[in-house]
Amino acid sequence: MTKGFKYRIYPNKEQTQQLNQMLGNARFVYNWALDKRIKEYQSEKKSISAFSIMMDLTQLKKQPEYDWLNLSVAQSLQQSVVNMDKAFTRFFKQKKGFPKFKSKHIGTHHVGFPQNTKVDFETGKISLPKLGWIKTKISRTFEGKIKTSTIEKTPTGKFFISITVELPNVKVKQKPISKVNAVGIDTGIKTFAVLSDGTEIENPKHLKSNLQRLKVLQRRASKKQKGSANRRKANLKVALLHEKISNQRMDFLHKTTTAIAKQYDTVACENLNISGMMKNHHLAQSIADLGLGRFYTLLAYKMAENGGNYLEIGRFAPSSKMCECGAINKDLKLSDREWVCPVCGRINKRDFLASRNILKFALTEQNKLTAGTVGRACGGVGVSRTNEAGTVSERSLRT
Ligand SMILES: [Zn+2]
Repeated sequence: MTKGFKYRIYPNKEQTQQLNQMLGNARFVYNWALDKRIKEYQSEKKSISAFSIMMDLTQLKKQPEYDWLNLSVAQSLQQSVVNMDKAFTRFFKQKKGFPKFKSKHIGTHHVGFPQNTKVDFETGKISLPKLGWIKTKISRTFEGKIKTSTIEKTPTGKFFISITVELPNVKVKQKPISKVNAVGIDTGIKTFAVLSDGTEIENPKHLKSNLQRLKVLQRRASKKQKGSANRRKANLKVALLHEKISNQRMDFLHKTTTAIAKQYDTVACENLNISGMMKNHHLAQSIADLGLGRFYTLLAYKMAENGGNYLEIGRFAPSSKMCECGAINKDLKLSDREWVCPVCGRINKRDFLASRNILKFALTEQNKLTAGTVGRACGGVGVSRTNEAGTVSERSLRT
């Protein structure tokens, strides 16, 4: 199994200059390769392979006016070609998101280092080809073989390194799927999550106030004259707060999913149509802010890491509409927080009922699979989550 580790790095003055050059070169090669590919397609109606672009790249680097490309690690530039190629393949498979040229002024910039990253946990330093040892804030250590790494520079000028590590093969004991220590989870807008054992997880309060502040700053920035120094300053303030919010959100999601994965053997969730929900304007902001997609991805991953089970029910299951007596409330509106069952008279709290039903449906589904001829897939953790484009997203949990 591979796992990613991310650290903030503090390059010295010289290393910062080198890194800026490398980031610029990576962006240049990406755009150059993308342009090549588009032109080839327009004139010849065929795709030029990444391999053939790399051959051209080798020639380009030999020309004196492109000598600055040699300040980069050769594999980094090849990685840019590979990334462009991947963006293209994604576009052809999903029929959306045509690859864009990368701008110097917008977004986070990346440069890959496919080989030769070294980490010294004792001195708190990371070594990369051509750059040497860079001061690093080591937040956690790891054991295993380093595969690749990527350096990113945020819009606020901070540098981070993400390292992919092949972890040593430790066999985790697979816990059985059963009612024992199992919980259903319903995520929502008002309360972040309600669990079928009655646990309620609230959204962090600072998130909301920071989001309101972000709106104010964004409006302020948009009123400043384009290209002016004041506009740049205002945009930097926006980027800094944005960074803070996204860190707070990730921190909350990590803590929450770790706690759940430690406490329960089996969790059941609903396969939500997140990008479908985003089109609903009122919900959009809240859902985007809650990072629900990430919550489920992290949870599935951490359950697998602990030998637990992550089950998912279909998005059209009537989880909040079905009373324990079996009656279904077809008229339930999104604004109804609770409803009285006309058949048995129970008062159903929407989120709590949903979490209980999610668990019930998921376990019933599992029993059918185990009893039938289908057989249980990979111990129940081979989760496949289909996204809007119809492809299975990043949930191949075990390698
Ligand atoms: Zn009822």
